[in-house]
Amino acid sequence: MLWAVLILSLLQNSVRSSVVNSQEALSFQPIASFPVANASKSFWIDTPGANLLGDEGSIGPLTEDADVCIIGAGMTGISATYHLAKAIEKLGLEGLSLEVKAVVLEAREFCSGATGRNGGHLTPYSFFNYREYEEKYGTIEALKSLQIENRTAMAMVSIIQEHQLADIVDLVAGGHLMLISSEEEYASLKEEYLAASRAGLNVGDVEWLPEEDVDRIYGASYSAVKFPAFNFWPLKFVTQLYLLANSSTPHFSLSLHTHTPVTSVTPLSSSRIWSVNTPRGSVKCSHVLHATNGYASHLLPQFGGPSGIIPTRGQIVVMRAATPVNDSWKASWGGLDHYWFPRPVNGSISDHGPEDEKENPVVILGGGRHIGGPAFEQYETDDSVVNTALGEELRAFLPETFPHMFNKGEDAEMEWTGIMGYTSMADPFVGPVVEHLQSGATSGIFAGQYIAAGYSGHGMPRAFSCAEAIANMITAAIQNKSWSTPEWLPKRYLTKNRSQEKN
Ligand SMILES: Cc1cc2nc3c(=O)[nH]c(=O)nc-3n(C[C@H](O)[C@H](O)[C@H](O)COP(=O)(O)OP(=O)(O)OC[C@H]3O[C@@H](n4cnc5c(N)ncnc54)[C@H](O)[C@@H]3O)c2cc1C
Repeated sequence: MLWAVLILSLLQNSVRSSVVNSQEALSFQPIASFPVANASKSFWIDTPGANLLGDEGSIGPLTEDADVCIIGAGMTGISATYHLAKAIEKLGLEGLSLEVKAVVLEAREFCSGATGRNGGHLTPYSFFNYREYEEKYGTIEALKSLQIENRTAMAMVSIIQEHQLADIVDLVAGGHLMLISSEEEYASLKEEYLAASRAGLNVGDVEWLPEEDVDRIYGASYSAVKFPAFNFWPLKFVTQLYLLANSSTPHFSLSLHTHTPVTSVTPLSSSRIWSVNTPRGSVKCSHVLHATNGYASHLLPQFGGPSGIIPTRGQIVVMRAATPVNDSWKASWGGLDHYWFPRPVNGSISDHGPEDEKENPVVILGGGRHIGGPAFEQYETDDSVVNTALGEELRAFLPETFPHMFNKGEDAEMEWTGIMGYTSMADPFVGPVVEHLQSGATSGIFAGQYIAAGYSGHGMPRAFSCAEAIANMITAAIQNKSWSTPEWLPKRYLTKNRSQEKN
């Protein structure tokens, strides 16, 4: 889509100069740019045939009117369409035939943000960070913080199972093995685990592995903790969610326009209260969801800066194992500031055919962000380039950690970057858009606009549920009904409750 690339380049240049100006004027209030053109190529997006909806709706007339306009076609935006469809379907079954039109607007290809560029881990963090959550937010909120991750992962897996999508999305239920770097870290994790267990969290599936066992079974000289988790092909899951939403009920109509960046959202004085503006024209709508992740502050400048959503670049490499990988190794892995997993055997990314994959699979590896300079790649929205130093660190990691399985000096078969959205609490903003992030205060000028963004690099086990909360808020608003917080949602995620934050 050459014209879309050109438009994005022009938009970026104007945005970058305005960012410089605003940084000079405000000292530290960086506003994110648009998603850049010519993003680096990712395995998930650029494997031929992977992105079925890649350029969907990028030419032809733009949808002009919708009840709900969703900005961003990643895990959040498309999960929201899925949950909206399900909510409308459910109302239909209850005899309430509510007709809802929704449109998704995406700046680049379908799912070309973090969801199409990530590490592929669907890892609910079992008991991790429990003590910090409890100390800051109390026992109930601490339990919810971890339970929502399990809830989310299991809901996604159940959709995969119900629709027999496991092979399509390459779901691997191999658990997550976290390598532990020192005795201090081991002791601290054990404390975390015991505190979570005492508080009633279900941690029965957690296994502690001494260094001798990890060395013998997996070939690394570290102790480890293993807990239930999954890896998958996030873009393919999101594609299937879109298809399910689109075919769920005749009462829900859905359209998608890729390569259609939203440049502003402006008020209208008509029954449709918002105009969502793009270079291709405008969509009039009543409800707007900002599912724009690290780019959120571009359209909502109050989300710029350290108390908002900080765009933060992450980097991934694809490395090939020098030896076959045994079944026990086919988990997702983390620890030592990295995360990785071997791809299942079907599929190939270079001149290696499927047979080579079987023998020597590729491993998707990310992390090493300590290399990213003093700013840890924060306030960085350019995913068209990679950080060379970080790339070198990533290439060295597997041969150092598993010396019998990876050859030193091997180059990566692919390498790309993607933009995450970090927040000071490491938790997302979910709910109606507010003007004042710290207090959650609003005069109502954004009424009808919602946001779910800022998962701080850990979106797969949270975004689907956060999108469900937003879809239910919008469904309630369409019916002029009130919405109440579901018991599974940590209250502090809500935009109106952000003042609970304790730094
Ligand atoms: C390198 C990397 C590795 C990661 N690894 C993992 C992992 O293994 N496990 C995990 O749980 N999480 C991981 N994450 C984080 C996870 O990918 C994100 O939390 C999650 O994908 C967020 O989904 P989203 O839909 O909110 O955002 P995104 O997927 O970023 O979607 C936002 C979309 O909005 C679009 N957009 C932005 N602005 C506009 C605009 N103005 N107009 C139209 N469209 C717009 C973007 O193009 C993008 O497609 C990783 C992220 C990165 C970058």
